[in-house]
Amino acid sequence: MPPEDTADHAAILARAQARAKEESASFRGLLTPAETWALFKQGEIALVDTRTLAERDLVGYVPGSIAIEWYDYPAKRRNERFLTQLREKVEADRPVAFLCRSGVRSNDAAKLAATEVRDNGKLLAEMLGQLNYIPQWFYYYGGLADKIQGTTLPLDKKGYFAFTRNEPLGVVAAITPWNSPLMLASWKIAPALAAGCTIVVKPSEFTSASTLEFAALFDEAGFPPGVFNVVTGFGNEVGTPLVEHPLVRKISFTGSDTTGRIINEKAARHFKHTAMELGGKSPNVVFADADLDQAVFGAVSGIFAATGQTCIAGSRLLVQDSIYDSFVEKLVGVARTARMGDPMDPATQVGPVTTPPQFAKVLEYIDVARQEGATLLLGGQRGNAPECGGGWFVQPTIFGDVRNDMRIAQEEVFGPVLSIIRFKDEEDALRIANDVRFGLAAAVWTSDIGRALRMSEKLQAGTVWVNTYRAISYLAPFGGYKDSGLGRENGIDAIREYLQVKSVWINSGAVAGNPFVMR
Ligand code: NAD
Repeated sequence: MPPEDTADHAAILARAQARAKEESASFRGLLTPAETWALFKQGEIALVDTRTLAERDLVGYVPGSIAIEWYDYPAKRRNERFLTQLREKVEADRPVAFLCRSGVRSNDAAKLAATEVRDNGKLLAEMLGQLNYIPQWFYYYGGLADKIQGTTLPLDKKGYFAFTRNEPLGVVAAITPWNSPLMLASWKIAPALAAGCTIVVKPSEFTSASTLEFAALFDEAGFPPGVFNVVTGFGNEVGTPLVEHPLVRKISFTGSDTTGRIINEKAARHFKHTAMELGGKSPNVVFADADLDQAVFGAVSGIFAATGQTCIAGSRLLVQDSIYDSFVEKLVGVARTARMGDPMDPATQVGPVTTPPQFAKVLEYIDVARQEGATLLLGGQRGNAPECGGGWFVQPTIFGDVRNDMRIAQEEVFGPVLSIIRFKDEEDALRIANDVRFGLAAAVWTSDIGRALRMSEKLQAGTVWVNTYRAISYLAPFGGYKDSGLGRENGIDAIREYLQVKSVWINSGAVAGNPFVMR
């Protein structure tokens, strides 16, 4: 519910009506929330934010003539009244019949997770984990909303008082991929809304359902219309107009580097801000001194979890010469036991590939690796077990004897295909690990703390894990080096990516000298 009624509602309404008459167009922004609400209830204004024109133009909506800005709500209220409500909606238990029957906890997170599984075929356990975690982004960034503050400047000039303001960028477009739709969207939505921006989300054409379902929760949580918006469709038909829309000041994109490059070039023409979360070819480096059982699990989780359809897939496994044969044998033994099948079944470990083009691409890369001379150690075919039911399954596939200059070691496959590369020592491992155009993530498996520190310093990646893989948090900055992207999501600084700084100068006694000379 927008600003609540007060006892002197009639007085507020009368004052607002009088002001609206007097000040016509310039009246916008001068209303208090209570006045706006009074006019809205009277049907005299549409309670929309004109910053969302980007979305409204696209869907042919004509906005009301008078509106209040999302930014005009006090930050504390944006958090407590709206973001908190949203978080509670996602978490709240409520019966969802078919989930109750399957024994899954029934709340909106579970419902949204089930929708994502139907769309992208990833494991229910994986999507439930993500959806149950999403509320933390709204909790964390909601809490930061009223900690955004400027500073006073210790100026070097007498007679001035100066300070900075951190202001929201305005309308943000969030363009998201199909692999983890709502988690990746939340990484953008939560800081953007907390910063006072409004947002238009364009999910992937393959997996739009959960984002649309999520939009309904914003309505239920009472968000003013126009603050959170969803447009669906293909990249060129809907994504491009959104990127080029004059009111959109920032494009926060997650997807392939090919699309990212197109968007970044378009955005640059209009000096728009961008955040680019792109692909990867992440090295997972196992030294002989590591806990090898844990490292095998790390290698499996790095590439076969989520059927390899994750930007942080550890798709290049670098194994030290001295343990290469025994480690690879152990790894193949574990990977061989991975159960493929229905992603809704809790026993399934590897689900299908999400889309037909992706399915074809993964099989094509398997052919490429064979032609390049890599040794096939496991899999290498479409999943043909009865549990796969003729779906787009690809067997967990492992290639050994991969050279780092092969395409299979350099290009993102985005499927369950692992390339294993040998290395001699630390220096060799670093050389190979960094010899790739991507730099999203990397991992090191070692029991030597000195080595862990040296490697984490020298690996060219936005995230480095030591003795673990695929760990993420709303607290830990996430983003790419090199072709893996620009900007950072998550963590305390990510909210700044939705703000712009203004310096305000106040003359507190400086006397104007020569007007033709800079002060
Ligand atoms: P994609 O680039 O094909 O599509 C991503 C989004 O961009 C979709 O919504 C699509 O409709 C839209 N799009 C496509 N062309 C567009 C255009 N010209 N203008 C505007 N929008 C356009 O990516 P995908 O196949 O959906 O996702 C897989 C890719 O995403 C992989 O490369 C993966 O590594 C990357 N990814 C990165 C991260 C990260 O955080 N770095 C996370 C997940 C996925």
